[in-house]
Amino acid sequence: MNREKIIVIDFGGQYNQLVARRVRESHVYCEIYSYKTDIETIKAMNPKGIILTGGPNSCYEEGAPTYSRELFELGIPVLGLCYGAQLMMHVLGGVVTKAPVREYGKIEVTVDKSSKLFGNVSEKTICWMSHNDYIEKAADGFRIIAHTPACPVAAVECVEKKLYAIQYHPEVLHTQEGFKMLSNFVYEVCGCAGDWKMDAFVENTIQAIREKVGDGKVLCALSGGVDSSVAAVMLAKAVGGQLTCVFVDHGLLRKNEGDEVEEIFGPNGNYDLNFIRVNAQERFYEKLAGVTEPEAKRKIIGEEFIRVFEEEAKKIGKVDFLVQGTIYPDVVESGLGGESAVIKSHHNVGGLPDFVDFKEIIEPLRDLFKDEVRKAGLELGIPEKLVYRQPFPGPGLGVRIMGEVTAEKVKIVQDADAIYREEIAAAGLDKSIGQYFAALTNMQSVGVMGDERTYDYAIALRAVNTIDFMTAEFAELPWELLGKVSSRIVNEVKHVNRVLYDCTGKPPATIEFE
Ligand code: GLN
Repeated sequence: MNREKIIVIDFGGQYNQLVARRVRESHVYCEIYSYKTDIETIKAMNPKGIILTGGPNSCYEEGAPTYSRELFELGIPVLGLCYGAQLMMHVLGGVVTKAPVREYGKIEVTVDKSSKLFGNVSEKTICWMSHNDYIEKAADGFRIIAHTPACPVAAVECVEKKLYAIQYHPEVLHTQEGFKMLSNFVYEVCGCAGDWKMDAFVENTIQAIREKVGDGKVLCALSGGVDSSVAAVMLAKAVGGQLTCVFVDHGLLRKNEGDEVEEIFGPNGNYDLNFIRVNAQERFYEKLAGVTEPEAKRKIIGEEFIRVFEEEAKKIGKVDFLVQGTIYPDVVESGLGGESAVIKSHHNVGGLPDFVDFKEIIEPLRDLFKDEVRKAGLELGIPEKLVYRQPFPGPGLGVRIMGEVTAEKVKIVQDADAIYREEIAAAGLDKSIGQYFAALTNMQSVGVMGDERTYDYAIALRAVNTIDFMTAEFAELPWELLGKVSSRIVNEVKHVNRVLYDCTGKPPATIEFE
């Protein structure tokens, strides 16, 4: 499809995905590419504009990531951010050196409102700085359009060549008017029309799927999570009866979750999904009996899942297409876009299942960020409750029960978690906390209840705030709320006599326990 796009060239900055997200929030499609992408590939994409990200290196050092001068001579607008700004100056003949004063944090920047970047921005505006180097002297032909006391060249422009460079990070929310600045680049400098809208995306994708699938058969593993639900509904709208969705209940879902998923997607729901629910709880518990090592548990759950799915697929017969809920961050993090180190090889991207014979994979969400998947979900009429569902690990409660998984322990953690979620919602905090759940520690300790000695489990409560799930801080929940949750859990859930609150961030802990 020939939609207008901006490309982000990634120099290893920690905010690369954020830059692309912000651009898309301004309704312009945007993709991330490594700085190693050659100029011909970039030209062939015919972008409306190019944004260079920040990065950890110093551009004047030997071997630092760079780009050839040609990039700035294509006539395509370029905006450099931080490292990208320094690099632009360095390549075009300016001087970048170690700054006498390093800037970090929120800093007031004075901008020149006559620049297209700053037309609607306040003259003094708070921006997020994070740099050790600075632009000592701008390249010839550039005009300084922003400064701070410690940073005489906080932004420059060369209007004729459509080149812009800024030292701070407009993509992070700490830069109060950063979104305006990025929008100004996209609209005022690049002249974008802003055609990236979810309703159009949904409609076009459905149309494209219909053409691709023809009268073929499609199979989808539905987990009830946001991504697979949105993908499945899109397919259902596109090819209706040719789709079969298999939902494997592995007995490690949250309380009542299997039934809730069935209610929405099953035969009495609103969608034409050919929904098959497989109740495989016992199979999973049997396989997990006696296993305590976290990775071994994960592996067993993953393998058993595939086996169950495979058995169902065989019953359907020949399948032409397999649907996967891959989303854009999975693609980027698998090292296929951008420059960030391979963080995890995502199951959706790297290893394709080899157990079903099919022609092709369909990944309708491959270009979308999570918030865009949610918007698409709402557009498709999927209930808000499901669209805003918290992330839930594939192995489910299997990794929230430390030690051996048993049916009894699953019940304990389900009940405790349900109480926790209920109280957080009642306190009106369910939308403001990033992720929260109860886990069952493998610790038993002594308690006293009704004058009797108990020797029972401890439940751990976790709540974190995070923007990207790569790092997180523990949430400071009100004591009163914690007290209420604790007392309800101990009173209502058998075999729990102690409730602990996890106050560790990520790093050093992870969000999940195993
Ligand atoms: N490494 C460069 C500096 O220290 C750029 C930093 C950045 O892009 N955040 O100035």
